[in-house]
Amino acid sequence: MSDIKPTESTTKASAFKKLTAVKGMNDILPVESAKWEWLESKVRGLMAAYAYRNIRTPILEPTALFVRGLGEVTDIVEKEMYSFEDRLNGEALTLRPESTAGVVRAVVEHNMLYEGGKRLYYMGPMFRHERPQRGRYRQFHQIGAEVLGFQGPEIDAEVILLAHDLWKAIGLKDVRLELNSLGQPPERLAHRSALITHFEKHQEVLDEDAKRRLYSNPLRILDTKNPAMKAVVEAAPQLLDFLGPQSLAHFNALRQILDANGVKYTLNPRLVRGMDYYNLTVFEFITDQLGSQGTVCGGGRYDYLIEQVGGKPAPAVGWALGVERVLALLEEQGASLPDSVPDAYAIVPDVQSLPVVLSFLRQLRALGVKVQMHAGSGEGVGSMKSQFKKADGSGARFALIFGADELAQNTVSVKSLRDGDGAQRSESLQNLSAWALSLQSTT
Ligand code: ATP
Ligand code: MG
Repeated sequence: MSDIKPTESTTKASAFKKLTAVKGMNDILPVESAKWEWLESKVRGLMAAYAYRNIRTPILEPTALFVRGLGEVTDIVEKEMYSFEDRLNGEALTLRPESTAGVVRAVVEHNMLYEGGKRLYYMGPMFRHERPQRGRYRQFHQIGAEVLGFQGPEIDAEVILLAHDLWKAIGLKDVRLELNSLGQPPERLAHRSALITHFEKHQEVLDEDAKRRLYSNPLRILDTKNPAMKAVVEAAPQLLDFLGPQSLAHFNALRQILDANGVKYTLNPRLVRGMDYYNLTVFEFITDQLGSQGTVCGGGRYDYLIEQVGGKPAPAVGWALGVERVLALLEEQGASLPDSVPDAYAIVPDVQSLPVVLSFLRQLRALGVKVQMHAGSGEGVGSMKSQFKKADGSGARFALIFGADELAQNTVSVKSLRDGDGAQRSESLQNLSAWALSLQSTT
């Protein structure tokens, strides 16, 4: 900004090279973060409505948690984790690439299921060493819901309805729900043999990843993003055909609830998700408006993870959404999201009045008005003209003019900065609450 005077040290040619953020990790600056805060507050409101409670787990976890929890032959564990040894004690640590495993660890560690099932949600940064591109970052943010301790399909339905209602609450359009069932371990085992047989017959079209996974984790091959393998993947045997009556009943009950609630979905028999911990229900909310980074939210049931992390076996289901992708999609759809601008900007022509003006501003803030105080740059407070320019630049809807004349009469002038005609009125400083609310914007 033009009126910021450089201090002595910044006028010297700097001997230091400019430092930048780590590649793939972004600063969220105020204009942007206002949208994040708006989204987060919508999420908090909806989570409260569904009686989900917040949980905050560490960003750093033992590497073993993810290796054991997510599965050794997964993209995340094989190549995307930021892992390192603690320099002081050699402990193997990893920046969390997702939060389900950490939530499960915490639930087990604190014996939270002792008194019954739990409905939880979290928000926070995740870390994956991926190739940065639009919608794919190395530090990104997820909001997630996890329900632990309940087995019935009505809970699968509840978490899906929760996500569905979130899209409604934030005005997100055109996300389609894709649904599949991965069945139970014995069903997957039978399917696995059939898959291996199928892919063995088509070795020549398999890429390196697929060949490597053929015998260790053939289900993963279905999750390929390689177009050259599309045909062979489409022709592969489908898990749905291997489901027994119980798995089918669970799946059908879930579908009935979704149907009854008017939630549309498509069955995608090739939907497998990126971690090994899922069984029965898996789902994704997908858009075509974000190129190849089109999955905005994914989840499913993970009835065996709690036991794998060392807890007493208990069922669970959940999802995670990508905050960057949800906001990018809203942007793409032309949604107008709130910015964090003040309601009013206080203009103070005379520096002597500042002490008393500040006390009025604090009273207005206590009444819920967002007020920005004018601050000079160097000597004095600047001319009225420059103060009005600042007021305009602040985005505030009103300027409050605390001139000497006004203060002498115990009033303040309230000038509209948005109306073309700049309507101005006088308000009493004796009774701020009578007019304070008229300054607040409704969004
Ligand atoms: P993708 O197939 O796009 O790699 P994923 O299956 O790895 O996604 P999950 O691990 O299920 O994704 O994470 C849930 C959500 O988190 C994704 O649907 C997406 O919205 C978001 N997400 C995952 N990885 C990233 C990333 N690197 N950058 C930004 N968002 C991400
Ligand atoms: Mg991924």
